[in-house]
Amino acid sequence: MADTKALYQEVILDHNKKPRNFGVLDGATHKAEGHNPLCGDHLTLTLKLDGERLNNIAFTGESCAICKASASMMTAAVKGKARDEAETLVHEFRDMATGALHVEDQPHHLGRLTVFAGVRDLPTRVKCAILPWHTLHAALNSVAVTSTEADGDPMHAPMGDA
Ligand code: ZN
Repeated sequence: MADTKALYQEVILDHNKKPRNFGVLDGATHKAEGHNPLCGDHLTLTLKLDGERLNNIAFTGESCAICKASASMMTAAVKGKARDEAETLVHEFRDMATGALHVEDQPHHLGRLTVFAGVRDLPTRVKCAILPWHTLHAALNSVAVTSTEADGDPMHAPMGDA
């Protein structure tokens, strides 16, 4: 348990010091903004889909350390993956963070992302960890703005200029 905690803190620190894929992509095909009003996290994701493949992805924004580390690891995990593989990770990560998926004894594809399994015991941080994934799901489904307070239903989010 102590090892898991140490690894978690090391990962959070590392990704805050050197966030992967930080910035805005030129010529992005999809873009979404994510908000977590409970903490004040705000992310902008840009990505390039080539057919069904997620060729490139970047994030920027102001967020707490957990959210930033989750965003950094998310971009590294889904870059180069097929769209449906990325969506599978979205669902698995959300289930892990909310306690529905027990990565210790259930099959999953999360790999190193399991360092975030502990957030299920920190109710106030769950949404910080999930926000980047929630925003990725919105971007892949062409929803421009999303919020962790929209019940996870992309249809509740404004669709941009009507
Ligand atoms: Zn946060």
